[in-house]
Amino acid sequence: MPIADKMVKMVEAASMIRKMFEEGIRLREKYGADNVFDFSLGNPDVPPPTAVKNVLLELINNKSTTHGYMPNSGYPQVRQAVADYLNKEYNVGLTPDLIVMTAGAAGALNDTLRALLNPGEDILTPAPFFVGYNQYAFVASANLKTVATFSDFHLDLDAIEEAITKNTRVMLINSPNNPTGTVYTKEELLGLGKILDAASEKFGKRIYLISDEPYRKIVYDVEVPSMFDVYPHTIILTSYSKELSLAGERIGYLAIHPKAEDAQMIAGATGVTNTMMYVNAPALFQQVVGKLQGVTVDINIYQKRRDMFCEGLHAAGYEFGVPDGAFYLFPKSPIKDDVKFVGILQEHNILAVPGIAFGGPGHFRLSYAVPDKTIKGSLERFKKAFDSVK
Ligand code: PLP
Repeated sequence: MPIADKMVKMVEAASMIRKMFEEGIRLREKYGADNVFDFSLGNPDVPPPTAVKNVLLELINNKSTTHGYMPNSGYPQVRQAVADYLNKEYNVGLTPDLIVMTAGAAGALNDTLRALLNPGEDILTPAPFFVGYNQYAFVASANLKTVATFSDFHLDLDAIEEAITKNTRVMLINSPNNPTGTVYTKEELLGLGKILDAASEKFGKRIYLISDEPYRKIVYDVEVPSMFDVYPHTIILTSYSKELSLAGERIGYLAIHPKAEDAQMIAGATGVTNTMMYVNAPALFQQVVGKLQGVTVDINIYQKRRDMFCEGLHAAGYEFGVPDGAFYLFPKSPIKDDVKFVGILQEHNILAVPGIAFGGPGHFRLSYAVPDKTIKGSLERFKKAFDSVK
């Protein structure tokens, strides 16, 4: 084998996703782009707010814009801007030294997991979960251990308590959630904080909570509770990939609660893991987001799509709850085998992702980060696919 043995399985898993992508291309070539309904990617199609373009133009024309190396954790003035914004949101006295600018949420996850975990330690995460977690755990030489949620995808706190062992270093949660769209309530999160505190005490080892929040601003008529309020030993990480539709620009950050045990040491270590992997977050887009704290894409666009898609799929017979956030639906597969059902959808030129890829078998994921006409045009086909197996 010319590649590392440990890479073989990872490459195989990645090739499943590539196959889906290639199938999309094949279907588009055969039937024309307007006759293919691709709900497989969480790649925002809503344009970034005009303020992004304005700030970019301003920076390009400004002689003081810089493009060189900077402190590896990011430009001090940008980290200050992020800290100021987060202090308005959370009021916990964040200082810029507890912020690290990263290459998206993926960069922040990699930095944090590699900084916190010894090889062979466990990351505990509720299932269904974002597929990238398998890869980030692999890079950190850690184990990703999953714990089942209730049928509405909210946290089963008893199951979490039972799943924590002396080998657990990190609890990783994602709300609003990909793939389910669930937003955890303050009450369940406070319960989680208590469990993590008690388990840290019991095992004589601090368990950190990592809150992966790239969809925090994409919510519909609900509030996302502050994770800093539920447990001080928390690292929040996020990106501008979804809230500013800048996924390809690779920009995000991590923020460590000032009262987290060894907060300064973690800040230093995440700055170093960041340096080992990609040196620093992209310079130009650090400067862009530094000037756009609190700006988001128009969430109404996603909300209207969610409502239209939910109504159409419910009318066709699919079963699922209306999600409060993110831009995904996670309906039950009308047959047990979700991979088979996704194959049936493909026969109707619809691309979806089987739930098994997210540790949620018996479901499938649909992203509505697609134009309205893709949703409208697909509904009849979804109904035919449903009727064909009933
Ligand atoms: N975490 C979750 C839950 C995601 O859905 C994604 C991307 O889809 C990421 C992290 C990675 O985000 P980014 O593109 O900002 O690295």
